[in-house]
Amino acid sequence: MKRLGLVAALLAVLFAIPTSAQAQVKGVYWTTSGFFGPFNIQDLIPSIPKDKARDITIPVSMWIIDHPKGLVVFDTGNNVAISDGGCKQYWVPANCDGLKPSQKRDDVIDRQLTKAGFSPDQVKIVVTSHSHLDHIGNIKLFPKATHVIQKKELYQAWWPEKFQRGGGVFVMGDFDGPARDFNYLELDGDYDLFGDGSIMILSTPGHTLGHQSMRVKLASGKTIVMSQDAIWMKENLDGYPAGLNYSVKDYSNSVNRLKSIKDLEGADLFFAHDQDQYKAMGGKWYK
Ligand SMILES: [Zn+2]
Repeated sequence: MKRLGLVAALLAVLFAIPTSAQAQVKGVYWTTSGFFGPFNIQDLIPSIPKDKARDITIPVSMWIIDHPKGLVVFDTGNNVAISDGGCKQYWVPANCDGLKPSQKRDDVIDRQLTKAGFSPDQVKIVVTSHSHLDHIGNIKLFPKATHVIQKKELYQAWWPEKFQRGGGVFVMGDFDGPARDFNYLELDGDYDLFGDGSIMILSTPGHTLGHQSMRVKLASGKTIVMSQDAIWMKENLDGYPAGLNYSVKDYSNSVNRLKSIKDLEGADLFFAHDQDQYKAMGGKWYK
């Protein structure tokens, strides 16, 4: 009887492991759609005191998440049309001169997927943090994917508030035409992407009306949080608010929310546009 019990216990363990392992993320790849800069950090974060000001060249973060139920891309970077010096044919000239994008064709998400070992056709889900030009730029490269975005963000993209309309940060060409009829999963808040807790979409408004971030639990047991533009860089976490916000109050709440997740869950928190963090930790797999 005792031995039978042991065998049953062993079998239970053997069958339990593959089931739980299947629900976990195999790996996350961090890459960038070229770089912006150099420019002074005060151009982006005016609240930074002069003695802390410096020139920065920042990444345009994109993420590839390998889940057993499907390949996920989180943000698609700058539109392919601005590659190799083509910026002024697609973005308003002021953004080309101000942001100074260095994107090469090989930096674009389709080629980055190939570099990471996938074909762009394999992408099942595209999650877009928000509809600014450096995050929603290439959703049209994924016409067959399910596109996950907050419903409010779609509204805002099509009809931004007056105070945000002038600067050309919403580029209609990124999401017009065929992209109108894509399969959108329009969210209203947090969402458990595959229903297993491994990829959580976190509502983090403020930078834009419907900004969202992501928390991933890796098979290794590690938790990582990709803030995207809820937190541009470490200085924002240090208390200097970003200079471009739909709502400063919501923005501050979202920064605090992500900081709490980092502290309580012991998560690694990755920013969208942090020069030093990307230099140290970007361009590689997390498992
Ligand atoms: Zn951005």
